[in-house]
Amino acid sequence: MNALHTSVLHSAVFDHPEMGAHENVVFAQDRDTGLSAIIAVHDTTLGPALGGCRVWPYETASAALTDALRLSRGMTYKNALAGLDLGGGKAVIVADPRKEKTVEMMEAFGRHVDRLAGTYITAEDVGVSPDDMEAVARHTAHVRGTSATGLGDPSPYTALGVFEGIKASARHVFGSTDLDGKTVSVQGLGHVGFDVARRLHEAGAKLIVSDIHAPAVLRALEAFGATAVDPAEAHRVQADIFVPCALGAGLNAATIPQIEARIVAGAANNQLQTPADGIALKKRGILYAPDYAINAGGVISIALASPGSGDTAVRDKTQAIGDTLAVIFERAAREESTPEQVADAIAEERLAKGRRA
Ligand code: NAD
Repeated sequence: MNALHTSVLHSAVFDHPEMGAHENVVFAQDRDTGLSAIIAVHDTTLGPALGGCRVWPYETASAALTDALRLSRGMTYKNALAGLDLGGGKAVIVADPRKEKTVEMMEAFGRHVDRLAGTYITAEDVGVSPDDMEAVARHTAHVRGTSATGLGDPSPYTALGVFEGIKASARHVFGSTDLDGKTVSVQGLGHVGFDVARRLHEAGAKLIVSDIHAPAVLRALEAFGATAVDPAEAHRVQADIFVPCALGAGLNAATIPQIEARIVAGAANNQLQTPADGIALKKRGILYAPDYAINAGGVISIALASPGSGDTAVRDKTQAIGDTLAVIFERAAREESTPEQVADAIAEERLAKGRRA
């Protein structure tokens, strides 16, 4: 390779804007099955890098690399903050999950995961089904969340953690975890949102629900005696607590000035469009439960489940999300910073301690 090639490679990969302290980035290929994948191992200080595999028709290799680098770093922080002895990693497969993904492709991916000798542990993510993971598991033991290794759907555990996080938020803002009579707006009634709504209903909360999928709304109206609103209104209704359980980036310069609730605590990933939005929430006196802290129940269930062990350890660790958030909120108030800044700091402190050990 001449000097020009070396410098082009350097700028495309090593100088990539999302490249941080990633330990290992593997470009995995299998010509026979059409597999093109990137496996990013961000940090293994606390243990093997656990993070899902996403199948997505990325338009460019750079977009795939961006996702792999960004998401793997996010997993390091999420796993560290959740108190798991696991590092962070992520895999992306460049393919349309409906048209191009095949069993053989997933098997080839499994062989690549196996070559990493346990430094990366894979699991399901967007575009990957339980059957796909079974195919991966035929070629490597470094898989979690399959029918043989796990508790199945992680969503009920994510919902449990979100509910505990809502109670911790209520204690911080209202002085009590009692949700009886509180008005809560739940946006998104999918796997997680519906279960969170059920728990809130059982705790006596008055529910305002929204979803772009009408049958989900009808189900919630019937089951919980809820009130329905247009999904675009969910953040601005008169409510004590806003619970985003749909898509990301819902907290932004347009929506934040309209929020009536004093708490935002929900499952959706990447809720803040930019870091400045966290500061805007703080300025408005709205308590924000950092998404990767409150929605960790799913990864906890994937990480800690083992065949025949039941779910007690998973439940205990998931319930501890409420305690972690209480610590985050108190420290943020003391240090006059935002909860997401404190969450990052706690994760980084745990990593620094791990590096010294
Ligand atoms: P899901 O696909 O089952 O449910 C999402 C719901 O949101 C669907 O009912 C959909 O119709 C609805 N929706 C989509 N756009 C909407 C909009 N603009 N307004 C209102 N509703 C809208 O997904 P899920 O598994 O319940 O996950 C919900 C969120 O939580 C996602 O952001 C996901 O990344 C995050 N999350 C989920 C888990 C998990 O264990 N499932 C774990 C961590 C984070």
